[in-house]
Amino acid sequence: MKKFFLILWLAVMLLGSAEAEDLYVKKVENLPEDFILGMDVSSVIALENSGVVYRDENGTEKDLFELLADAGVNYIRVRVWNDPYTADGKGYGGGNCDAALAGEIGRRAAEHGMKLLVDFHYSDFWADPSKQMVPKAWEGMTVPEKSEALYSYTLESLKIIREAGAEIGMVQIGNETNGFFCGEKIWKNIIWSLMSAGCRAVREFDPEVKIAVHFANPEVKDNYLNWASKLEYYQLDYDIFATSYYPYWHGTLENLKDVLGEIREKYGKDVMVAETSYAYTLEDSDFSGNTIGEGGGYDLPYSVSVQGQANEVRDVVNAVNEIGGIGVFYWEGAWITVGTESFEANSALWEEYGSGWASSAAAEYDPKDAGQYYGGSACDNQTFFAPDGTALASLKVFQYLRKGHETELKVESLRDAEVNVDVGKEIVLPETVSAVLNDGSGTEVPVEWNMPEDLSSEKGGTFTVTGTAEGMEAVCTVNVARFNYAKNYSFEEDDLSMWVCENLGGTEQLYCEEKKNDSKTGEKHWHFYSAKANAVEFTLEQEIELAAGKYDYSLSLMGGDTGEQEIYIYVKLDGEIAQKAAGEMTKWNEWHTAELSFECEDGQKVVCGVYVKCAGKGAWGKIDDMIVVGE
Ligand code: CA
Repeated sequence: MKKFFLILWLAVMLLGSAEAEDLYVKKVENLPEDFILGMDVSSVIALENSGVVYRDENGTEKDLFELLADAGVNYIRVRVWNDPYTADGKGYGGGNCDAALAGEIGRRAAEHGMKLLVDFHYSDFWADPSKQMVPKAWEGMTVPEKSEALYSYTLESLKIIREAGAEIGMVQIGNETNGFFCGEKIWKNIIWSLMSAGCRAVREFDPEVKIAVHFANPEVKDNYLNWASKLEYYQLDYDIFATSYYPYWHGTLENLKDVLGEIREKYGKDVMVAETSYAYTLEDSDFSGNTIGEGGGYDLPYSVSVQGQANEVRDVVNAVNEIGGIGVFYWEGAWITVGTESFEANSALWEEYGSGWASSAAAEYDPKDAGQYYGGSACDNQTFFAPDGTALASLKVFQYLRKGHETELKVESLRDAEVNVDVGKEIVLPETVSAVLNDGSGTEVPVEWNMPEDLSSEKGGTFTVTGTAEGMEAVCTVNVARFNYAKNYSFEEDDLSMWVCENLGGTEQLYCEEKKNDSKTGEKHWHFYSAKANAVEFTLEQEIELAAGKYDYSLSLMGGDTGEQEIYIYVKLDGEIAQKAAGEMTKWNEWHTAELSFECEDGQKVVCGVYVKCAGKGAWGKIDDMIVVGE
């Protein structure tokens, strides 16, 4: 069955894939000759050992490094783990990348005129914002001992990599070190004791080699400015402030330019994007789930197509160049499937050669993540190669972006439409849908919907309607929902006059707060806090204009350190509480929704609210989303 889908998928890909001549690439103006167009290919040797071959666009087998160099890639990045092996020599996977393997990759890059960025994770396996585990051999060391070990390890590893034939141009001291590094959590230890030891080793190894630090989540600008100031405060001797930029997670390019530009100006450092990538398809080709696939929870600002992938690369390069940045590295652009037969066949190769993101052997080091979810490539749909290793047209973007390659404009993809309708109201579908052209610009195109017979707004629910526009399938989601009578129900609007808050105790902080991570929906919510015990006590309510009828009322709360708590939502009819329902608060990010039903008559004054009383010292909480709907 899986094989059938794969063949179907290959057929669709061949029919739908852009030829290089058709690829639209807008010129990046004023791009310096030495601007870095890099690619991380850390998994390549494990992939080749698993039987993977790469081919040019005509299907001729070629060395990956030759293909990349010919395409305009001029720098290679490789991750380095201290010891990604068990005591009896089983690799953790993810390419089993250690210093010896980095040397081999660096040598092959150098043979094709490409320098190497050595990306030290200072861990035995993946280091990212969620984990920065100390290498096994350094476990239990004091910070000064670890500093000395890190210095020696860095110097020795760089010697191994250079002696293998690599031309090391740049060294990264840590990978996505958002507040954690090598098992440490205190900035003074991280920067002053550990990162500085790495920098000292690089300078001693070769003063010509550039030193980069690397963080993730540029969409949180304050974090970036804070980290840059910490590096300055602890006098780290580095050259480049680097960031990951995945457009489906990391905010807009305008924001990226803003934050990197500010750091560059203020601290006089070079800036670059150390990792980026984009999907050319949502299909998985190796029977191991992908980071970006079916499902949601992320933005897809470009067409998911070979053309969209090229547009993403071009735009990131353009943005970094516009602020005087030095380069962009694409992450694992060649991590394709090791086979197209079955999960079992692929799994055997991942286990033996380390060509999946993790093998079962990694469980001893990372039991919670790798130990449970080990498997193949999570980014085979974000590479520049089809499952059989043939180069996609998008690989040409690296050379095309220097001079531009503008072809005939055409519609590349359609954006899904959405319609929100109140229960009982007429459903009107849009006459046009938004389309994305191959140059990345947008337009509206006429659409014909296949109206389902049974589409009705009688009851609430979500329906999907398909149609045709420009010969492509259009999709419209129809949400039929009940009208919410609460005003400014999620605190997003500036006018808060409908909300009445009465501080019945000595609640110290009681106001509308803007903080997306603490909001149930949107960016804002109602916040309270008291350092003192037995201080929090208040009501928050609003009057609701309702016709006679039956209604449901709900409100959500989240909070902690409450001590003994008394929390309930209520409905007052003509000033008297008519209904109550208990609420609760447990801990951060655990929202609880209290619900009740009530009936009112015409002309009655209806007030919906919440009462909160907490005895604990430092009790805090968040209130969001008052929903009052007709039954
Ligand atoms: Ca996959």
